[in-house]
Amino acid sequence: MKKHNFSAGPSILPQEVFEKSAQAILDFNGSGLSILEISHRSKDFVAVMEDARALVLELMGLTGKGYQALFLSGGASLEFIRVPYNLLTEGGKAAYLDTGTWASAAIKEAKKFGSTEVVASSKDQNYNYIPKGYTIPADADYFHCTSNNTIFGTQMNEFPETDVPLVCDMSSDIFSREIDFSKFGIIYAGAQKNMGPAGTALIVIKEELLGKTGRSIPSLLDYKQHIDKESMYNTPAVFPVYASYLTLKWLKEQGGVTAIEAKNNAKAALLYGEIDRNPLFKGTAQTEDRSKMNVCFLLENEAHTEQFDKLWKAAGISGLAGHRSVGGYRASIYNAMPIESVQVLVDVMKELERTVA
Ligand code: PMP
Repeated sequence: MKKHNFSAGPSILPQEVFEKSAQAILDFNGSGLSILEISHRSKDFVAVMEDARALVLELMGLTGKGYQALFLSGGASLEFIRVPYNLLTEGGKAAYLDTGTWASAAIKEAKKFGSTEVVASSKDQNYNYIPKGYTIPADADYFHCTSNNTIFGTQMNEFPETDVPLVCDMSSDIFSREIDFSKFGIIYAGAQKNMGPAGTALIVIKEELLGKTGRSIPSLLDYKQHIDKESMYNTPAVFPVYASYLTLKWLKEQGGVTAIEAKNNAKAALLYGEIDRNPLFKGTAQTEDRSKMNVCFLLENEAHTEQFDKLWKAAGISGLAGHRSVGGYRASIYNAMPIESVQVLVDVMKELERTVA
């Protein structure tokens, strides 16, 4: 039986993406070759890469606005390094918002390049909220934030108005909601949550920001080189890029970001509604900053743990354990998660209430 997969990433993808990916492993486009054995320079794969890059910009409303989309290897974590390499000038300064484990990891890397100011942090409350009312220094080369904090289940509802270029790690909520993407200089995301399997990361760059640091940038770390080589400077992750492409096409067929946002809102409302109603559970994030992708919650009474774990496992649910730094439970309800699966979880929560009453 197919499980209801609430894993934080790698995570659920649309069923049709699994099926089409499986087919392409056996025979890609009727070529008599598997997607796993074709050259990245083959006509068919070059077309996938081109279409995928164009589709990213289309779904974000960025076509013809001076942006380039790249699919690179190294995960979102490599962008923690590539961003300062490409934007932080010699002697310049970067500004960061510290909203969780991944934001801190990005800060740690930036500090190796130069002056890095943390404008605000929510570490004081184990990252259960998004800081507000901070000031971004006008002389910063860029401001980096994390739109959705996968581990702590918080999400930015607003992005700052500033003339400083905005850089955003959108790994765990990319393509999940309408955002004015043209406000950003660089957006990046590991594929393995909302966009595809692990093995590739998406980077969307406003091209005019590049080439201004005065640094000598190693080729593989230089966004410009990857743009010039159309995301094929070295061998791309052929299969993860293909599966991501299928997921993006699925998203477009669903009606794009606007349509998926309505579904994501309904799923989040259903699950948070139950967390708030059911006296056995409580959410960990502050209400106004709750993530619509990663729903983190605890049992009010840990004595119910064994019974709850038994119930959700019996219901075919997988991947519900919280991250070790928060404990409890985390239900990741990415784009591909059907509301029916969220309902299964809600039903299990209600059942626990009945059994312990
Ligand atoms: N940023 C965020 C918000 C994440 O959730 C993750 C992975 N969980 C990362 C960065 C790191 O991604 P990767 O493993 O692809 O380097």
